[in-house]
Amino acid sequence: MIEIQRLSKRFGDNVVLKDISLRVDQGGVVALIGPSGSGKSTLLRCINLLTVPDGGSIRVGARTLAFGAGAPALPRPRELAAYRAGTGMVFQHFNLFPHMTALGNVMEGMVTVRKLDPATARTTALALLDRVGLAALAERHPDRLSGGQKQRVAIARALALRPEVMLFDEATSALDPELVGEVLAVMKTLADEGMTMVLVTHEVAFAREVADQVVFMRDGVVVEAGPAAQVIDAPVEPATRAFLARFN
Ligand code: ADP
Ligand code: MG
Repeated sequence: MIEIQRLSKRFGDNVVLKDISLRVDQGGVVALIGPSGSGKSTLLRCINLLTVPDGGSIRVGARTLAFGAGAPALPRPRELAAYRAGTGMVFQHFNLFPHMTALGNVMEGMVTVRKLDPATARTTALALLDRVGLAALAERHPDRLSGGQKQRVAIARALALRPEVMLFDEATSALDPELVGEVLAVMKTLADEGMTMVLVTHEVAFAREVADQVVFMRDGVVVEAGPAAQVIDAPVEPATRAFLARFN
């Protein structure tokens, strides 16, 4: 479903991604782990095109984009919006629209990107809110929702665009510990339903349970990748071992 080849990105002199290659099968779940600053968020942002890579290529579903010298121009804004919708992104800090209710947040992209009529968007949004356990809170604004509830709205909002893949960037890192479980439960359900997912997480136990593949990154390179049980329980590379030792 996702094929990344030789992806590179630098910010000024700072080379943040160096020749990253990665494959995610349809329905596969890949967990990206690694120290802060290793390029995990940049990689996710490149898949969603919030950040434009300098070189390499990314295929998501049937759509391939190549970057760098000699590559075709990037899609026009309208097609770019469709591409972004196909790679639903969930951020650490939710990024909900504060002036809209939970329902409004979920409806927004359906009306503006998918061009659904408001009545259809509303019905679909309510069903999605129900799916993340928030049907009763549809009319609340974000400032009256807990962090866990906000994040579940953000997940529903991404799902509303019918993404082919879901990208989660430390979706539970900003939450109080007692609220982490409700968000992980929604993510696990999505994975069980066959959603293709790439997640950056510090929840090693969750990665071990839900991910098929774990990728350990450091300094913009993939140091070690493989089946979750192998990378987490029996890492080969010293850097992976040192990193995981912190979580035991
Ligand atoms: P991680 O998510 O693994 O913590 P990031 O992808 O956020 O890592 O960052 C990797 C490196 O890229 C860091 O050195 C960070 O400072 C740098 N970086 C990320 N985004 C930008 C940006 N927009 N402009 C300049 N430097 C950036
Ligand atoms: Mg990050």
